[in-house]
Order: sequence, then C-alpha cells, then structure tokens
Amino acid sequence: MKIVQVASEMFPYIKTGGLADAVGALSTALADNGHDVAAFIPGYRSALDHPEAQGAERRLRLKVELGDEFLTGEVRVFSPRKNLQVYLICRDEYFDRRGAYGNGERDYEDNADRFIFFCKGVVEMLRLGDLQADVVHCHDWQAALLPLLVRQAERRHHVTLALKTIFTIHNIAFQGLFPAKTFGRTNLPEDLMHIDGIEYYSQVNLMKGGILFSDRVTTVSPRYAQEIQTPEFGCGLDGVIQTRADDIVGLLNGVDTQVWNPALDPVLPARYSAANLTGKQLCRVELLKRFGLTPEFKGPIFGMVCRLTEQKGIDFVLTNAEFFMRHDARLIVLGSGDRRMERDLQKLATAHPQKIAFSARHDEPLSHLVEAGSDFFVMPSVFEPCGLNQMYSQVYGTVPITSRVGGLVDTVIDASEHPTTGTGLTCPPSAAGLRDALQRALELFAAPALYAQVQQRGMAKDFSWRVAARGYERLYQDAL
Ligand code: ADP
Repeated sequence: MKIVQVASEMFPYIKTGGLADAVGALSTALADNGHDVAAFIPGYRSALDHPEAQGAERRLRLKVELGDEFLTGEVRVFSPRKNLQVYLICRDEYFDRRGAYGNGERDYEDNADRFIFFCKGVVEMLRLGDLQADVVHCHDWQAALLPLLVRQAERRHHVTLALKTIFTIHNIAFQGLFPAKTFGRTNLPEDLMHIDGIEYYSQVNLMKGGILFSDRVTTVSPRYAQEIQTPEFGCGLDGVIQTRADDIVGLLNGVDTQVWNPALDPVLPARYSAANLTGKQLCRVELLKRFGLTPEFKGPIFGMVCRLTEQKGIDFVLTNAEFFMRHDARLIVLGSGDRRMERDLQKLATAHPQKIAFSARHDEPLSHLVEAGSDFFVMPSVFEPCGLNQMYSQVYGTVPITSRVGGLVDTVIDASEHPTTGTGLTCPPSAAGLRDALQRALELFAAPALYAQVQQRGMAKDFSWRVAARGYERLYQDAL
C-alpha cells in the first residue's frame, strides 16, 4: 500500500510526547513491512537540524492559500530508510521556534494558522507530487483538517488524492479549539461552520473535523476507545464520537524495540536482559549518581518521566510526598511543563535532597536511565489514552505503578489481584489510591522472589510495534 502519515511530531525529528514515538515507530514498521510510506511533519528547527534532514534529497517550493492570502513555504524530502520518505513542510516564520506548540508559558497565538498551513501544504504535496495515496492517516488535531481538505482539493482539481482517510486520536484533551474567525483561514465551504461541521459552541474545533469526516477513526487503546464515548473522558466530544461508534477502533501503541531495548540501548552505562540483570544494577548506581543521591542506597527507587500536567497525576504524587520521608525509599522525577508543578517538585527536592530528586528537563537519554535504573515506575494518570512509559518500564524490568484508566488498563495487570500473572501494581486515579499502591510496592520489594516474578513477567511481554502495525495494516485494508 501507499501510505501517507501526517502528524505534528515524529521521533527522532521532533518529540514532545508519545505521539512522536507512535508516529515514528508506526512509519518505520510499515516501511519495513514493505509498504511505501510518506510521513509529513512540520519543518521545526530540531527537524531541520537533524543530520538526516541536512542531506535532504529534494527541496520544493510551496504556495498555500490561507484565507485571502497566499503564503509561501518549502518542502524538504529525505529518505531515512528503505520505503520511507519524510517530508518537512517548512515556513520559518511558523516553525523555526524553540517550542512546538508554545513558549512554555502559553500556546503560540498563531497555532491555528501554523497547522492549517501545515495541512494545506500536505494537500499541495499530495497533488503536485502525485503521491497517489491509498491511505492518508492523520494524527491528532494538528492534522485533523486533512480529511476535509483532501476531499475539497479533489473536487476542485478533479483528481483523486487518497482512497481513504484515517484519523487517530492520541489525546482528546487537545482539540485545536480556535475563535470562529479562524474558519476563514481554511477556505472550506461556509456550510461546514455548522453544528454538523467543525463548529463547536461558536468556535472552530479542528479535531471534530477529523472525527466526523475521516473514513475511519481510531484511538490508541481499546479502553480509551470506550472511555471517550462518555462525558467523564470525552472532553465535550463524547457525543460526536458516539456518532462514529461503529467506525471507531482502539489499537494499542507499541514499543519501538530498536529504541527501547535494555539489551541494545546505547545510552545506558550497561546493557542487560531478563536472563542477566547485572547491568540493571549498574544503571541503578549511575541513576543515583546522576541525580545526586547516595549510590550505595539499596532500597526501592521510584522513577517518573512525564510531561508535568494534571493528566499525569503529579498532584497525587505531591500529596504522597510524606511516604518518601517516612520510608527508606527514593523518588526520582524527570519532567517539565506546568510551572507550578515544577516549583512544587523543586521545593520538595530541595527540602529532602537525600530522598527526592527532580530534573525539570526534557532529556531523552536520561529518560532511558530512569527507566532502567528504577525499581518502580510511577504513573498515576488521571486519564491516559495509551501511555508508553508503563510499557517501557515493563520491557526494562521496572515494575509499573499505574492508575486504572485508558491504555494503562490494557497493558498492566495488577499483581496483588492476579498473583500468578501480574506485571505491575494498579490503583484508582487518586492520592489515596496511589498511597495504597506505594505501600504494596514496598511490600513487594521486601519479598525479592515475588518482585522478581513480577519483573520477569513484564520483561517477557511482547509490546513490539510488529503487533501494533499489523492492527493498522488490517484496518487500512478493511477501509480500502
Ligand atoms: P504523553 O504522550 O501523554 O506525554 P506517553 O507516555 O504516551 O505520554 O509518552 C511520553 C513520552 O515522552 C515517553 O517516551 C516519555 O519517555 C517521554 N518524555 C516525557 N517527558 C520527558 C522528559 N522530561 N524527558 C525525556 N522524555 C520525556
């Protein structure tokens, strides 16, 4: 199949979260399975600076209609592996910035223009590059206008650009909600600014367009596919999702085992496997050192890597800070985002430097070390479309502590409830739930044979993208 992927992030060119890992790994897996894959992302500075992009084989000029303006840009094309072409949609004014979506304090004011430009740039390339896509697969709100724009361009130019469009929701909390005047920038027919179109309480909702006008809708775990049809998790779009209930499917993300594999991981001080965990001890010592903690410490290390936002249950952890004071345990947090949460974590770490360590950076190699060197990985999310770190931690022999929401339910089995099959510890998404799970973690750690069983079961699981990509292949074929 000729498959086009469109997203605002793709590892290793630009990453703020799991979307990047998923799009990068899916594109690679499909290419390796022999499909012809073209992946489109914005030409952010980090993408342009990537060595693979530096040697771009083709550079094409781009002209895009945005409302009553014509904006120019450039497309850079390179091929990082067989069957995979990456297209960077560039316009420095929009994408040559430090953050992908905002400056850390707030979102960029021109985000609507930036991503409408991006989507329209993709459509222009589909048309002028004559890509003849079987499937155009769009991810999250930044690419959600594609299904509408593709069909509009086909009508206008009397061509076929894509046989089918697929839209994947990676997080329904981010919908691309903009003032009504934004609609003019899309150049779509007026009747789409309507309750049956992309109008949403007198605003423009880009994600709504993806949900309503794609041929198939997917999300990143079976449990989340159910949850987003309810008011509790649907973030106001549950009614819209329900109208597509027959076409929505939850396909679990996978782990890119070329990037996340303790037996091969080049950024770790030592490698290890389920059969020989000696290297994990060295990772542990290095992790303690890197975070300024006593390297001889033998008790349980609780690690966290995440964006600092309400979604990730940071406040549940802060509420339970005393747990780490009372017990001989360590908490290591790597995460950036919400300034208040950064301050609170920093305050804790400063007050208890022997027990709690915090780094407010985005640091890809260090995230691997936290996964490898910890004994438990803490992920008490309030909601979680799929979540990747709970899978990474199982692969790295680090027992996850997760709340029972979304993809966490689909990927972690509670060892207290299921002593012979459990791979982690699960709890309700609350501070009290987390306290109980942390307590159970201490007990598990105090029983090394039991801990080792839970650890080994996690390491034996196959979370690879081979499985996940097959699900998408079937879906594409079914849609076609
Ligand atoms: P989300 O997409 O909601 O952020 P996921 O668990 O799906 O959550 O994916 C998060 C990804 O981002 C993981 O690969 C995680 O390791 C990475 N990540 C999050 N914060 C950081 C950080 N501060 N440094 C390095 N990697 C991070």
